[in-house]
Formats: sequence, C-alpha cells, structure tokens
Amino acid sequence: MDYFPIFMKLRGEPCLVVGGGEVALRKVRLLRSAEAAVTVVAPELVAELRAMAGAGEIRHVDGRFSGEQLAGMRLVVAATDDRRVNLAVAEAGRVQGIPVNVVDDPDISSYITPAIVDRSPLVIALSTGGGVPVLARLLRARLESLIPAGFGRLAGFAARFRDRVKARFGDVEARRIFWESVLEGPVADAVMLGNDEAACAEMEKRLASADDKPTGAVYLVGAGPGNPDLLTFRALRLMQQADVVLYDKLVAPELLELVRRDAERIYVGKARANHALPQEDINQLMVRLAQEGRRVVRLKGGDPFTFGRGGEEIETLAAHGIPFEVVPGITSASGAAAYAGIPLTHRDYAQSVVFVTGHRKDDSIDLDWPALTRPEQTVVVYMGVSTARELCDAFIAHGKPAETPAAVVEWATTARQRTVTGTLASLPEVIARHGVQSPALIIIGEVVKLAETLSWYRRIESEPVTIRN
Ligand code: SAH
Repeated sequence: MDYFPIFMKLRGEPCLVVGGGEVALRKVRLLRSAEAAVTVVAPELVAELRAMAGAGEIRHVDGRFSGEQLAGMRLVVAATDDRRVNLAVAEAGRVQGIPVNVVDDPDISSYITPAIVDRSPLVIALSTGGGVPVLARLLRARLESLIPAGFGRLAGFAARFRDRVKARFGDVEARRIFWESVLEGPVADAVMLGNDEAACAEMEKRLASADDKPTGAVYLVGAGPGNPDLLTFRALRLMQQADVVLYDKLVAPELLELVRRDAERIYVGKARANHALPQEDINQLMVRLAQEGRRVVRLKGGDPFTFGRGGEEIETLAAHGIPFEVVPGITSASGAAAYAGIPLTHRDYAQSVVFVTGHRKDDSIDLDWPALTRPEQTVVVYMGVSTARELCDAFIAHGKPAETPAAVVEWATTARQRTVTGTLASLPEVIARHGVQSPALIIIGEVVKLAETLSWYRRIESEPVTIRN
C-alpha cells in the first residue's frame, strides 16, 4: 500500500489553502464540509470565495504565499497554477512536518485526496494512488448508483440503537443476524423513505419481541418493458436482496439474471387465456411467504399500477397487515414510444394520450368510443393484438378516419423489438401478415407518422410504403 488511508477529524482545525481560483474553491468547499477553519492565501479570489470571506466563513490572507503561513496548520492544500509556488508550499510543509497536497501533482504531495461518496455519516473514500484519478471517479459513479440516497440516514439511525442492540443480544452471531434483518428489511426501508417514526416503532417491536424471526415484506416491483437498462435503481437493489422472486411471462429472462443468485424463483405464469396460477392464489402465496419472514419481490412487466393488477395484489397484503412497497417501472407504452420513435404527445399532432386495454370482457370490447375517437389524441392499446380486427373496425365505425396512422410495436425496447406501421384500415391485416404476437402494443394517431424520421433503435416495417433506416 503506497498510501495509508485515514479519516481525519478537522472540525475547527486550522487548514490552509494556497490559491484563489476554481480549484481552490473546490478544495475549500470540501474542507468546509468537514467544518475545518480555512485560511485562503491569494492575491485574488473568485467571486464565491470572496463572498465566503465576506461572510466570515473563511479567512482571507490577501497576498502571496510565504513559509511562515504554515505555522499551526493541520493540513495544507496548494491549488495555484504556478508550479514554483506549489513546490515552495510542498517544501515548506516537508520542513515543518505538515501534510501538503498539491492538486493533481502526487509526486510532490505528502498526501492525496480520495474520490468520495458522501452519505454522511457514511463516507466511502477511494483512491488509485494518484495515478488514474479518472478511474476512481468512474468507480465512484458506480458506487453512487448502488448506494441509496438515504443510506446516510440509515447509518445515523442504526448508530442510535447500537448500545441497546448490544445489550439485548449478548451473542455476536445473534446480533449480526438481527442487524442484517434490520438493515435490509422494512426498518431500513422506512428510514430511507424518511419515516423515522415507523422505523422506530418497528425497531422497538423487534427489540421487545422474544422471537427473532425477521419480518417479511412484499415489494411489488415494476421491471419495465424488458430491457434491463430500463430498470430503476430501487428495482435492481430489491432484486439483489430478495429471498423469493415471483415473476410471470412478461418478465424477460435477461431481467431474471439480475436477481440474487440464491433467491428462490417462482413462475406464476400469466399467458392471457390460461393463467398458470389464478390471481387469488398468487395473492395468497405472497401473504404466506411474507408471513414466513421472507423478502418477496413480485416482479411485474412495465409498471405495476398500469394494467398490472398491482392494486388487487396489495389489497390482499394490506388486509393481512403485511408490510409492502410499490416500485414504479417504465410502462411499456413509454418504452415502446421512445424506442420506436413515436412521441405520445406532440404540439402539432396530439394534445392528449389515452391508455386502454383491448382485452375482451364478457366477449366484447367495452370502451368509451366517443372519448377514444377524438381528434389530436394518441391512443395506446395494451393487450390488443388478438382483438386488433375488432378494435380497428370499432374505431372506424365510431368515426375515426380509416387512414389514421397506426403502429404495432412487439417486444418493445428489447433486442427482439419489431415495429410495423400502417393505418387503422390496414393494421389488422398487417399484424396477421407479419405474424405479430403478444406482447405488443398498438399505437393509434397522427404521431405514428413521426416514426419514419424519429426511429433510432430498430428498423421499421411500414405498410404500404417501405422505409429503411
Ligand atoms: N404493467 C404492464 C402492462 C401489463 S398488460 C406495463 O405497464 O407495461 C400486458 C400488455 O402490456 C401486453 O399485452 C402488451 O400489450 C404490453 N406490453 C408489455 N411489455 C411489452 C413490450 N415489451 N412490448 C410491447 N408491449 C408490451
């Protein structure tokens, strides 16, 4: 190890920054975030440093650097663009035994500053030994995306209970298991959502109960339209913590790859006509698994609250007092629109957008036709491929012009995405000829014309004109 990492207490300690430019400003901010007493030596200051000096947040020594300014300093940063000055600061530090960092010059620095992920009190510092700062920054970006924003709050919350948990669980192993279930379960979720009251109540309950069985919970997670890059951070984190994952046909295999390796996976089916498990059984299964203390992720294609029966599933959980959370996902209409180059609204073509299901109920498609056939409106039909003929006919019968542009997008956002365009009159034919199958969305409206110029992801098969791009 070339450098010894430490976290230094600087509250109220005198620190010197030599230089008054943007780089110096960044270092001053950093030192101020640790509440150091900062002095800046420079003949000129950028506006923000001037303001800080004016407000008494830092002390400004107006002039040039000289060695005696180091006296009494705990830490020094040289941030001028004059290498001779920087060298002089480094040398003065060496003689007086005070650590000096010269920005971007590890060779003459006695310490270097790491890239930081700040979730105070949790702080992660990382360094590549000054050699490849860009690499450290890239790593930091990854960590930033992995660590929830509320993690600092969680660290603070846990610290408040440290002594009591220690007293309650004499056995180190029991204490570890307790903390794991707290830091990855409903208590942590409540803290990170800013609900300290609920978190404290749950913590008290857990500390008081003799039974150390972890509390289960159900996470109703929107997995997006299929492309794993379109998952939310929250969805990914929960998938990597889950004990059990319930998924159905709409969840692409690439997404299941991201689930924690030793999590149990349960397929609960859902082909439109023959549900592998009736909805009521899925609901009961989730209740039972959570009551066993397991963290259950119910993965749903798209968004759980958009034609996803998410509401019904959590009603059952609520009735049984099971803690649950809903994680939104990108609904397939948004995914298909973006990846097929069909904006759902557009100032020239569509002022509103409506999502409907083309699923038959009691053998007929029961929709509000006068509302759906209004001009300057985009209609997106979920689950409409098998009823496309009936749908398109009804649109025309209720007054929508037969030549209205229409598209069908199959497996939107995935490597298998296919878009075929036509008109209300031709679409059913087009769907049959191209063998388009579920999952696919039908998009109806003038905006479909834009795909010709705006599609960027996959080839569009258009009827009757063929476009190549
Ligand atoms: N909750 C989901 C919708 C479930 S209903 C969501 O928000 O997207 C199932 C219907 O969604 C399918 O019949 C199909 O119309 C549509 N769908 C889901 N994923 C799709 C995809 N990748 N491409 C096209 N349509 C999709």
